[in-house]
Amino acid sequence: MHTYASAVLGCKVNDYEAAYVEQELNRDYRKVSFRERADIYIIFTCAVTNVAEGKSRKMIHQARRLNPEAFIVAVGCYAQTGPAEAFTDVDLLIGSTEKKRIKELIDERYAGSLVRKMERHPVFETMPLLDYSRKERAFLKIQDGCDQYCSYCIIPYARGGERSAAHEQVLDCARALCEHTSEIVLTGIHTGRYYDGEYHLIDLIRELVKIEGLKTLRLSSIEITEIHDDLIELYMTEEKMAHHLHIPLQSGSNKVLKEMNRPYTTEEFLQRITEIRERVPGISISTDLISGFPGESEEDQQETLQTLEKAQFSFIHLFPYARKKGTVADRRRDFVAPAVVKERIAAINELEAPIKEAYAASFLGKEVTVFIERSEKGRSEGYCREYLYTVLPEELPVGSLQRVKVREVRNGELYGEVRACC
Ligand code: SF4
Repeated sequence: MHTYASAVLGCKVNDYEAAYVEQELNRDYRKVSFRERADIYIIFTCAVTNVAEGKSRKMIHQARRLNPEAFIVAVGCYAQTGPAEAFTDVDLLIGSTEKKRIKELIDERYAGSLVRKMERHPVFETMPLLDYSRKERAFLKIQDGCDQYCSYCIIPYARGGERSAAHEQVLDCARALCEHTSEIVLTGIHTGRYYDGEYHLIDLIRELVKIEGLKTLRLSSIEITEIHDDLIELYMTEEKMAHHLHIPLQSGSNKVLKEMNRPYTTEEFLQRITEIRERVPGISISTDLISGFPGESEEDQQETLQTLEKAQFSFIHLFPYARKKGTVADRRRDFVAPAVVKERIAAINELEAPIKEAYAASFLGKEVTVFIERSEKGRSEGYCREYLYTVLPEELPVGSLQRVKVREVRNGELYGEVRACC
């Protein structure tokens, strides 16, 4: 049996697509580690930053070194947008379409480039994970592409315009996943813009929560402008909805938000999260933030710190601004010096640490529901529904859902004891 190895860079959507390709390959090929010699290597590339592109190139070169005779496939965003010189070691190049055909193309050892110019409205490529047999939480891709064109982001160029999976196909796939796991995370590039004719995200969620085996449903992230009242209502009434919303803010300065082409102001953002918290008490609201966007002044940084103080996020994924060739922001010349960005990041982290700790501490003495992801050496770990890392002092079945009393909070993590299995 021929062997293959795969490396996945970047986002959850790449993870999902890789899982689909592996599901197909596993029928006729044996998977080995990317550190081993394999007959076929597949690199799911990422173009979100120049660093991610560099890592994609590194994995391609590593594969060629491990086996000079191997058949090497590069797929995804960097394959779509990168220069031809980056792929001289690659036999098959697949961009943001035709991913579904990867196994067939590998079977034929089809060598060449299938990178197509991305259309404004490409068709959604259905890649159902029907053979999923793991107990971990499952990601389910329901949407691809983006029409927003934030000025720092390459994704609309790499993945093309917005398109969504047919809702029947999503529901079939979710039912198959729920035979093995009880938690599903809906993913996409712009998940909140899911639509299938008249069928929107809210309609899809209402159908998904009816699936018997499904106990927890999460959204990987959603834009503030897409959190409508009916969605908040669902978080209030439907116990299967995980009480966590990841809502990218990106900057706490209105001037920077405008230059980023983000469609809201900080006031609108803060107003909406206040409403969400009033209606869904205790909900975890986390965010993504970019520090050092071109032209970001000291005043903008101060405005950002004030916004963060008001927003009280449960955690922040904080990134230094990274130049990305081909984006509008990359044409600017007023880049912020790396040393200044470093200082700004440190100031944000300093502000954020006690806020994060206080949110976690609000669960002290309370009960949370935890999805067990790892269990060994006398302890189990996993995330609770509010997406706080939780540690338990006993071995429990991976994939099980446990009701836990929180006894201690350290560094934003919960430590507790099991009350009951859900
Ligand atoms: S919403 Fe903005 S940041 Fe998110 S994928 Fe689209 S263009 Fe990129």
